[in-house]
Amino acid sequence: MYIILFGPPGAGKGTQANKLVNEFNLHKVSTGDLLREEVKNKTEEGKVIKLKIDKGSLVSDTIISNLIKKVLLNKDINQRIIFDGYPRNLNQAKELDLLLKKNKRLISCVLSLAVDKESLVKRVLGRQICSKCGLIFNKYFKPANKINHECDSKFLETRSDDNELTIKNRFDTYVAKTLPILNYYRDQNLLHEVNGMAKIDDIYMEIRGIIASIET
Ligand code: ADP
Repeated sequence: MYIILFGPPGAGKGTQANKLVNEFNLHKVSTGDLLREEVKNKTEEGKVIKLKIDKGSLVSDTIISNLIKKVLLNKDINQRIIFDGYPRNLNQAKELDLLLKKNKRLISCVLSLAVDKESLVKRVLGRQICSKCGLIFNKYFKPANKINHECDSKFLETRSDDNELTIKNRFDTYVAKTLPILNYYRDQNLLHEVNGMAKIDDIYMEIRGIIASIET
C-alpha cells in the first residue's frame, strides 16, 4: 500500500501521518525529515540542502530521487508507505510511478488536505516538533502538555524554515510547482480531497475511513 499525503506547508500532513502509521502499520516517509537529517550530518550536500530549505525553495530532484530510491530498496518498510511532502512536483510524481511500476506496484490513493492561506501561516509560525519522539505540536492551537507529550519540554524545537519570510516563499513554491500535481492524480482517479480546516480528530476519522475502504 502506497499512500500520498498532499497539501500546502502547515496543512497537517505530518500530524495525520503520525496517527495513521500506528493504526494501519504504515511507514512514514517524509522527504522534509530525510532532508533535515542530511542537514544535521553537516555534509557538503547537507549545506546545499539547508540553503534551499531556508529559502523556501525546492531541493533538487536528483537529491530527492536518491533519497527515495534508498527508501524503496529498504525491505523492512517498502511494502506499506505513507509519503508526506513527496512528490513535490510533476517530475517527482512521474518518477515515483516509474519506480513503483518497476516492482509491479501502484499508488493506492492520494489524500489532499485543503487549508486556507491565513490559517497555514498561523499553523506554521506556531509549530513545535519534539526532537526526541517526533510528535508535532502548536504553541497556539495544540500546545504540548503532560497529557499529550511524555518527553521533556526542552526537546521541543522550532524549524529554521518556520518563519514569516520563508513561509511566503514556501507557499508560492507550493502553488507554482506542487499544486499542478493534483490534476495528474485526479485524472488517474486517485485523488481524495479532505477539509484540512476541520478538527485534527475529525480529519483523521475521514482519512481512516478512506484508507479502510481501500484496504478491503
Ligand atoms: P512543509 O510541507 O511544511 O513545507 P517539509 O518538511 O515537507 O515541510 O519540507 C521542508 C522543506 O524541505 C521544503 O520547503 C523544501 O525546501 C524541502 N523539501 C521537502 N520535500 C521535498 C521534495 N519532495 N522536493 C523538493 N524539496 C523538498
